[in-house]
Amino acid sequence: MKQELKSFGEIALSRKLLQAIEDMGFEEPSPIQAGTIPLALEGHDVVGQAQTGTGKTAAFGIPTVEKVRESYRRIQALILTPTRELAIQTAEELNKIGKYKRVRTLPIYGGQSIERQIRALARGVHIIVGTPGRLIDHLHRGTISLEDVATLVLDEADEMLDMGFIADIEEIMGAITCEERQTLLFSATMPAPIEKLSSRYMHHPERVSITKENLTVPLIDQFYYETRDKLEGLCRVLDIEETGKLIIFCRTKRAVDELAGALDTRGYSAGALHGDLSQVQRDRVMKKFRDGRIDILIATDVAARGIDIDDISHVINYDIPQDHESYVHRIGRTGRAGRKGVAMTFIWPREYRQLRLIMKLAHTKIQRRELPTASDVLERQKELIKERLLKVLKQDRYDDYHTLISDIVDEGYDPMEVAAAALLLSLEGSGESREEEQETFGNTGGAPGMVRFFFNIGRSQKIRPADIVRAIASEADIPGDTIGVINIYDKFSFVEVPENVAERVLSAMHRNTVNGFKVNVEPARRK
Ligand code: AMP
Repeated sequence: MKQELKSFGEIALSRKLLQAIEDMGFEEPSPIQAGTIPLALEGHDVVGQAQTGTGKTAAFGIPTVEKVRESYRRIQALILTPTRELAIQTAEELNKIGKYKRVRTLPIYGGQSIERQIRALARGVHIIVGTPGRLIDHLHRGTISLEDVATLVLDEADEMLDMGFIADIEEIMGAITCEERQTLLFSATMPAPIEKLSSRYMHHPERVSITKENLTVPLIDQFYYETRDKLEGLCRVLDIEETGKLIIFCRTKRAVDELAGALDTRGYSAGALHGDLSQVQRDRVMKKFRDGRIDILIATDVAARGIDIDDISHVINYDIPQDHESYVHRIGRTGRAGRKGVAMTFIWPREYRQLRLIMKLAHTKIQRRELPTASDVLERQKELIKERLLKVLKQDRYDDYHTLISDIVDEGYDPMEVAAAALLLSLEGSGESREEEQETFGNTGGAPGMVRFFFNIGRSQKIRPADIVRAIASEADIPGDTIGVINIYDKFSFVEVPENVAERVLSAMHRNTVNGFKVNVEPARRK
């Protein structure tokens, strides 16, 4: 089900929440939000099929915060999430949503001192975001009371199921005694145990999933880059790629402004376009872009809707689109009127699944591309300098500098050396680049430069090394021969993969299948 909501203002939300959403830079509800928020506000139980990147956190966060009575300092909502990272991120997002309403959200997860959590709880919180294991701990100690919980959210339910939390979840659900409890469940997939959970514990749930429409994907080259430093990656691409007019899409107004500022600092001139600008400001930016005084336009989806320009050579998704429809709309701005177009999408490693889903639903292939290295950029700059130099030589406009050079040559320098030094001078300061930061998995017992993963399948499932190589190569889209040592035991296996693709292999393979067997994958412990 999908509702055609164009703005958050059309939803019955309090002013305080609308202001907070405005501050977060959201221009309009994402499809999963448009589907979920009104139903949840009406009090329905909702089962939402969505994953990271779709805006699902705010989809349950907004109605949950809206429902809280801030003057009543008791735990009124509980959100269960599979991992500590997600608990922290979710709590951060809810704290932003509840900023003006003064609704406090606390993350509760294993690994953090329980005493510290007890002290934080004692200060009074309205919403808890927790991992099941640690919550059970608190329940058993009597340090958390769920008697006032009126909203329960299960986030990434399939993930929690795979991590073996089902019994914990059922125990927690059993401990929520409020008769009017509202339950919201989010999951990327809907395996049988999740369906069972929802029919057992939820009250006539409404289902929301992102609609599948028949979309025509334009015939243009589509690539994606996976990186932990998008800004650096984007700059390298801008330096090396031959582009004409290009549009860069960001998810929020704030992100548009930040990127415009960051590009400006690095010497690229770009125009920003979003809903907070006046019509006059917009017209001014658009005129510059149309006239070619700026080549880069940074925009939100909403702001870009009105743009009607035919000669866009590149569309860059600096933030991954929230669904496949948005992907198709965005990239459809290039490759018009018979021209060639290129679409590039930047993703964080954990967004790989969302990218796969977009490819699947839009029936399109987005090819992986490696970012240009710092030396590629340098090479390109040399080529450009050569081109410009030849142009200057042809124009014969350099008389003023003759004396300078002949002075230097008189001092005993070879003219070749002088020319090379002049080039070095013109390149200086632009060739340096930071090494890309890699998240480390710590010591997983792999060879140098490799990360070793634990797979919970082995000989008992008749798994052979070739099966693992094939699965990883196709799912994570990496060459099979880069996969390192594979050790297969009866019930599990160890697989080494290069560090730079480790995050992606993890996100692509975890909860995926090999030869039809479901796998859980984790970084291995050191030997
Ligand atoms: P999620 O799918 O919840 O992990 O959200 C992905 C990202 O999208 C987060 O950075 C959110 O802050 C952002 N986001 C969520 N809803 C919207 C919206 N309506 N407009 C723009 N950005 C959003």
